[in-house]
Amino acid sequence: MPAPNIDTIVSLAKRRGFVFPSSEVYGGLGSAWDYGPLGVELCNNVKQSWWRWLVYERDDIEGIDSSIILNRLVWKYSGHEATFNDWLIDCRKCKGRFRADKIVDNKCPSCGASDWTEARPFNTMLQTKLGAVADDDPTALAYLRPETAQGIFINFLNVQTTLRRKLPFGIAQIGKSFRNEVTPGNFILRTREFEQMEMEYFVSPTDEHWKFVDYWVEQYLEWFSSLGLNRENLYLYEVPEEERAHYSKRTVDIMYRYFPEREKPWEELMGIAWRTDFDLSAHSKNKLDAEGKRINPDSTEDLSYFDEPTKQRFYPHVIEPAAGVNRTVLAVLMDAYSEKTNDKGETRVILKLSPQLAPIKAAILPLAKNKPEIVGMAKAIKRSLQPVLRAVYDDTGGIGKLYARQDEIGTPFCVTVDHQSLEDEAVTVRDRDTWEQERIKVSDLAEHLQKRLKPYPVPAPEAI
Ligand code: ATP
Repeated sequence: MPAPNIDTIVSLAKRRGFVFPSSEVYGGLGSAWDYGPLGVELCNNVKQSWWRWLVYERDDIEGIDSSIILNRLVWKYSGHEATFNDWLIDCRKCKGRFRADKIVDNKCPSCGASDWTEARPFNTMLQTKLGAVADDDPTALAYLRPETAQGIFINFLNVQTTLRRKLPFGIAQIGKSFRNEVTPGNFILRTREFEQMEMEYFVSPTDEHWKFVDYWVEQYLEWFSSLGLNRENLYLYEVPEEERAHYSKRTVDIMYRYFPEREKPWEELMGIAWRTDFDLSAHSKNKLDAEGKRINPDSTEDLSYFDEPTKQRFYPHVIEPAAGVNRTVLAVLMDAYSEKTNDKGETRVILKLSPQLAPIKAAILPLAKNKPEIVGMAKAIKRSLQPVLRAVYDDTGGIGKLYARQDEIGTPFCVTVDHQSLEDEAVTVRDRDTWEQERIKVSDLAEHLQKRLKPYPVPAPEAI
């Protein structure tokens, strides 16, 4: 059974050092969160899993890391300056301000009234100013990127030519994005600063784009299941035209059951969009509109592709799987959450994280912390394991408490050093999920743990 609600995860995350409310010493900052010692490990493990899966294990995807602040013209021609809007409405009764598309049954979420102002657009790009300029100098205006995708499009030719890529191929990027969300909330689900894992997969304009969308949906379902997400908690939403972004001809959202306690439990975990050739054309100097005029008089490059076999030049189409690190982390925490009753009738939380995601793989615990030989042996084991897996030494409580703490943060194995260990050079290895214990020789320990820490298998990528 996953976590009953997000609040359960909020309190676990704070209690155990995954995620803290940001700027708490000044009363906090609405919907900003800081990742603690365990949270940063969990995020890194999600990102590493994604990068390994797409960039290393496949042969058709390259990685990049572009700037967060780009030339303002990028956002003009991508359409974000004109259209990256949320539609705002105000409740005339309580003066609350909301996103029009998130209102259910026309009722104000604060006071229940149905008396609204007209909807009006609100651009959600966060603005900043570059250089030591006057406050009102319009040339200094810049944006913090609202998506990582544009950094990929403007580098399409750089990557394609330097790596001699032929279609189809993809470019992947992980990084922070920023949106001035009207109603952020629900912990790390919707924040103004967040991290994305985006991949643009470039294909020929004559390919069957619908099938590519289906292909990537399937691939991501496999990846999420390798992270431990139960398929029953995922739901596919074919986004209707009126809800799609301006560049998309088809979008499928993978939704996660973030709100099991609600009648409508689903919220977007990621989206897979066919962005057509919109972005590459929009940034290209040679693309003409229907009247034969350049659509982009500012661009100095043409981001078209020359296809050797057909001797044709064209703007590739793009299939974009766009996922959020933070929403993935929240889904993973909710799905891993479980409770178990011990033989004293006490309820214990066990975070059944996939071993590849667990912040700590093994905790080395001395049974007696006042015995220098035992402590010395436990610390030496920690040091010897560290080069192959993330291990910690902990002697800050009795053994029962230490086990419970490791269960709650998802550590797959506890390794206990006891009096007997000094004689037989063996330790007790306790399994997080079964609580079963095995006696293992110290000389075999690293191999024993590594074998059991293998990630859940992701099937080899199918050819496209
Ligand atoms: P929503 O409809 O929930 O606002 P979106 O459709 O605008 O999301 P996309 O533009 O498709 O989101 O962004 C891709 C992914 O980036 C999302 O699926 C989500 O995982 C993540 N993401 C987007 N906005 C936020 C946010 N404010 N906070 C956290 N993650 C976000």
